[in-house]
Order: sequence, then C-alpha cells, then structure tokens
Amino acid sequence: MIPNPLIPLLAAVLSTAAVLVMSAQPASAQAPPAEVETRFGIRIVPGPMDSILLKDYKPEVSLVVPKTELSKARFPVIDAHTHNWMSRIITPEDVDAWVRTMDEVGVEHTVVFTGSIGEGFAKQVELFGKHKHRFQLWCSLDTENVNDPGYPQRVAAEVERCYQMGARGIGEITDKGSGIQREALPRKERMHFDDPRLDLAWRTCARLNMPVNMHIADHPSSWQPLGPYQERSPDFQGFNQYGKDVLSYQELLASRDRLLQRHPETIFIACHLSNEGNHLASLGKVLDRFPNLYLDISARDYEVGRQPRTAAAFLTKYHDRVLFGTDMEREPSMYRGWWRLLETADEFIPGRIWWPYYGLELPAPVLEALYRGNAKRLLNWSPW
Ligand SMILES: [Zn+2]
Repeated sequence: MIPNPLIPLLAAVLSTAAVLVMSAQPASAQAPPAEVETRFGIRIVPGPMDSILLKDYKPEVSLVVPKTELSKARFPVIDAHTHNWMSRIITPEDVDAWVRTMDEVGVEHTVVFTGSIGEGFAKQVELFGKHKHRFQLWCSLDTENVNDPGYPQRVAAEVERCYQMGARGIGEITDKGSGIQREALPRKERMHFDDPRLDLAWRTCARLNMPVNMHIADHPSSWQPLGPYQERSPDFQGFNQYGKDVLSYQELLASRDRLLQRHPETIFIACHLSNEGNHLASLGKVLDRFPNLYLDISARDYEVGRQPRTAAAFLTKYHDRVLFGTDMEREPSMYRGWWRLLETADEFIPGRIWWPYYGLELPAPVLEALYRGNAKRLLNWSPW
C-alpha cells in the first residue's frame, strides 16, 4: 500500500474532534467502568422497565407522520374469508347489521364459512336467506368416523347435498398437524388433506365448481418454543404447536403440495397466504408449480405490513392468484384498517402484533383484482 501523507494528519484531526465531542457529552454517556454492561455504547442500568411483562408492553408513539382515514375501499370488495361464529351472527338482525356495516365500508359480498353440513347448514341458509344477494355460504366436510369403509362415499355425497342446499364452496378446512378428522386418532390413522379417503370429495368439488378454502399448517412461529425468542406477540401463544404430537410445519407444506399434484382439477384457496407469508419468494415458487392453487391474505395483515415492498411486488406479480379476506369479526374499524394498509403509503401503522405495519400503496389494477376481480372470476356465483 502506498503511504498517504494525509493519513497521520487526518488521524490527528479526528482524535482532537473525538476529545471535543466526548467532553461535550453529559455525564451518563461517559465511558463506564469496565464491569458495566454496554450495548451500542449505551450503558445498561437496572430500572422499572425490567419488570414489565411482554403482554403489558404498549409503547406510546411520538412519531408524527401522515395518517390517512379511508371510510370506504377504493373499489367494491368481496370479503372471501369470514366465519358466522366469529362475527357473532345468530339472529336475522345480526345479518341486517352486518349488511349495514358492509355498505358503510364498501364490501359488496361476503363469503361466510358456516362450519356446518346437514341440518346445521340448512339453518344458516335460512338465516342469511333475506340477504342472499350479499352473501355466499360455504359448507364444511363430514369428518366423523373417517375409518368407516363407506366414508369416502359419505363425505362426497354430503358435499353434493350441501351444494343442492346452496353451498358454493367448502371451507375453511383446517389441518394444523393433527389431521382434519373430528376425533383424536393415533398418528397413522389421521386424515390429512392428501389422504385417499378424501379423493372422491375433492373430485366432487371440482365437478360442482366448489373451491376449497384450506388452512394448512399455521404461522411457522407456532412450531418454535414459547419464550424469549418467540416471534409473535403473547396473544398468539394459544396457537403454539411446539412439542405436540403433530406433523411438522415442513411435513404439512409437503402434504399441501401432494394434494395439489393429486387434484389438479380442484381449486384450492390456501388461506393466510398458505402460512408462508414470511417467505414470499418460496410461496411464489409454489404458485408457479400449481396452477390450481390460489391464496387469501386474511389474518396476515402483519405479514404484508412488515414487508410492504416485498409484499406489494408479490401481489403485483401474482395479481390473478390472491383473494382478499378478513377473518377478523366485523367492526368497521377492522375493515378500514385493511384499506389503510393496502391502499396508502402510511408508515408505522399500529397493528395487532408487536411489529408495526407500513402501507403497501398497491396500484389500482392490482388492488381491484385483489379486492374483487379474482373472487368474481374464481368463485361460483350461481344463485342459491
Ligand atoms: Zn378463518
């Protein structure tokens, strides 16, 4: 290296500057004794913050940045993921109230997962009947006694019967690792999505043009221990699977891929970004591999909100593959939170998890496809 005559001079100037800066610092920032812990130059001292519980930690934010209030969505919305039980829909008046809220916030249609079949489903058809032009009702699957020899025919026949009663899709069907059968079974008897006992039911869905909303696995943090390294806020600890007798996260995603391969004619909508919203590059490859796979973004506000640029690029690239859904009760403020997240460039938006969100500012054609276009094209809109 060629010696540079300026280097000793520069070093002398810098060390003089450092002395000046140090002497101007308050006492607390002076070099601590060697045994005191420091992080990034900050002296770590004990205090009241040490005894705050994580669940009670709610910092007040001093940041002043634009806060956009949107009372209605920019385009009419189809909410493709709700539950009647979660939205506390018990009486016809509850349905009326839900329609009023939908009108206020700009939701044109709502897909309701009734979680029922048979008589239970018939009751939901009656309950929502007055507003049938605003709702699509989806049924569940018969998941009782799955070891019966006649089970494959029974489950498929009930799909058909529910279709005749008005069901236009199946879901949400959930496998978080212990199978989708109702009863607790030993590992090797459990029924996962790719089980041959469901082949006939999935083929029936394809024939009747009934998409299937599939909840497979869960957020990957659910398979990590609860403790200081747990990624999600304490509110989510009830979903933890760590140490339980269930399939691993990776085994569940593999069962999803086998299912998609096995039933290319059936439309599967993997909800919550297929629980791979933490790794959108990987999820994109799954979409590339399986044209019968679609996604919904319900309940993954925190995934898209913590990576707004990556999420916006993903939703733009796969603009014809992702449906909008909420899965979060039915408060007007809940819907408006979604509009703010997806439509604006607002920053540091408070969310329901401990990392804040950033607006995606989606381009109009992407937003329109997400809000409505894909659901309009994909779902079965024949009258019920
Ligand atoms: Zn749901």
